[in-house]
Amino acid sequence: MNLKLQISASWLNSHDYCEYKFHRQFVLKEYIPRTKAMVVGAEKHEQKEEKFLEVAKSSTIEEFLASTSYTITKELRLESSFEEFFLVGKIDELGIDAKNVYIIDDKPKAKPYPGTIRQLWAYSLLFKKKFPTIQKKIFTVIRDRDSDRAVWTKTFSEDSEKNLFEVFLRIKLLFEGKINPEPTKNPNRCNACVLHKLDRCKYSSGNKILQSIPAQYIQS
Ligand code: SF4
Repeated sequence: MNLKLQISASWLNSHDYCEYKFHRQFVLKEYIPRTKAMVVGAEKHEQKEEKFLEVAKSSTIEEFLASTSYTITKELRLESSFEEFFLVGKIDELGIDAKNVYIIDDKPKAKPYPGTIRQLWAYSLLFKKKFPTIQKKIFTVIRDRDSDRAVWTKTFSEDSEKNLFEVFLRIKLLFEGKINPEPTKNPNRCNACVLHKLDRCKYSSGNKILQSIPAQYIQS
């Protein structure tokens, strides 16, 4: 049976950070330990979700999409099949008003990195496929997780979609073993990378490792 590759929207962020690390983690399925920052991030995310659920009112998706005053929902999971792959994603927050849809992703120390933008484009693509009759304009928003401030916003365009499919194709070629993964050349990224800190990357351009496997890295 020829199963389609399942791509997660969040992979786009990881792929942009360092293709070589992405390859080890998702293609070779190597275990990559989580950092304390990642565990804390997951906890903060959960706390936000719990707060939302305390005040949220239930409605159908049709009622939500027809909202004319600003309304939000959270953690909306979407999936769709494309010719060469299957795409899945969970939107952090989806806002809607009379004219627009706002696809919002919360990030710590939020900045409009290409991978973060593509992750939002993937959600936009999923939204478009799932709700083709919704005529509202789609805005993508990167928001700082801690300050709740939007740091970047843009409409989802045909050019965005084209760029996104180029990256999907590259990911597919990686999974098929038809191209070699490129390590990042950005030493700041390597310095922050757990594989660098554990002295487990021969391509790292980060600072010299003085002590490998520091205690702040957890193994579960
Ligand atoms: S240390 Fe640098 S090159 Fe190696 S996986 Fe991490 S980010 Fe990529």
